[in-house]
Amino acid sequence: MTIPNESFIPFHVPSIGDEEVREVEAALRSGWLTTGPRTAQFEEEFRAYVGASQAVAVSSCTAALHLALAALGLGKSDEVITTPLTFCSTVHTIRHVGAKPVLADIGEDGNIDPVEIARAITPNTRAILPVHFAGLPCDMRAIWALARRHGLFVIEDAAHAAGSRYEGRPIGSMPSDGADDVSDAVAFSFYATKNMTTGEGGMVVTPRAALASRMRMLSLHGMSRDAWNRYTRRGNWYYEVLDTGFKYNLTDLQAAIGIHQLRKLERFIEIRRRYAGIYNQEFAGVEEVETPAPGEGNSHSWHLYVLRLNLNSLAIPLRRSSSMKVSRSIGASVHFIPIPLHPFFARISPGRSACDRALRLYQRILSLPLYPAMAESQVRYVAACVKDIVAANCARRSHGILASQM
Ligand SMILES: *Cc1c(COP(=O)(O)O)cnc(C)c1O
Repeated sequence: MTIPNESFIPFHVPSIGDEEVREVEAALRSGWLTTGPRTAQFEEEFRAYVGASQAVAVSSCTAALHLALAALGLGKSDEVITTPLTFCSTVHTIRHVGAKPVLADIGEDGNIDPVEIARAITPNTRAILPVHFAGLPCDMRAIWALARRHGLFVIEDAAHAAGSRYEGRPIGSMPSDGADDVSDAVAFSFYATKNMTTGEGGMVVTPRAALASRMRMLSLHGMSRDAWNRYTRRGNWYYEVLDTGFKYNLTDLQAAIGIHQLRKLERFIEIRRRYAGIYNQEFAGVEEVETPAPGEGNSHSWHLYVLRLNLNSLAIPLRRSSSMKVSRSIGASVHFIPIPLHPFFARISPGRSACDRALRLYQRILSLPLYPAMAESQVRYVAACVKDIVAANCARRSHGILASQM
């Protein structure tokens, strides 16, 4: 994969190799395009990779979260606690089942703070929905303990966390000892910019066989049997619709990509980790920035490299990606605009005060390009640009020039 030229470094470029291309071509020529043998293979290989007991391939992480919430029976008058520092769909899925999203503020590391979760629990709370922000695992021990104490479900949004590890175990894995330290469902994303991709796609894993079959049934119109299943039992055209289902299945064309992305995931993360290390080194000693929370050992999947700026009022113009693009040709981004700042969420639940830390952090964060298709020289170039802009800003500030003019 090549990046057009050194003068523009996009925020993301996917790493798609010949293996993926050949597998998609084989799928196209096989005569079976939708959910079939390649999806089954991808599910099985992903299940084995994370060490889960059940895996259901779906069309997105959003679909995975919605299915999990629906299959667990969440609905009206139920409250689900989640983080303000996430993508909107985490919260949408709670609304889709008719439940009420309740935001609990983040801690120092950007992940939902278990102390804030405890504070947000009411008699109506039914579930906790943590997000492993940037690929850094949440404090799951504390979250599982709260869930046990209050009889709550735990559904993890692991959109950033394919390949992340918590206490040595992959996110989504079943414990080999007792079954206590485990979530009800864990949802992964294979969106184009994520650590591994199928273009669009997702996977939901669970330790509960009954929940897996219910999610599988709901993912395809609530039907008792999918088309591949009927095809392989020649002549068996019969199926029954058992519930109000969705159209959330993954296709074999997408699974064809996923099979090979999964095989490369560890290597991808290795490169991400190395590049994050280079950024950390480059920014060490630069007073105006703070490097992201590192995670321990090999726990972090480094989906995002989120730099924190210490420039107060200058931070906002600096991180405006348009100015970065114009002045230096770097596709930087911001993850995320906190949930309460979006007009829709502000209207449905004016709970801004509970999210102070997320709102303050938002003023300072800037996601830098970080992906395996980058060359090391490009990582260093991005770091040099950021350092230049920071230095220029400090100079401007001392000369009293308005930052908004940059
Ligand atoms: C990308 C993302 C999602 C949604 O994933 P899709 O596969 O696009 O549905 C959900 N949550 C977070 C935190 C994400 O970054």
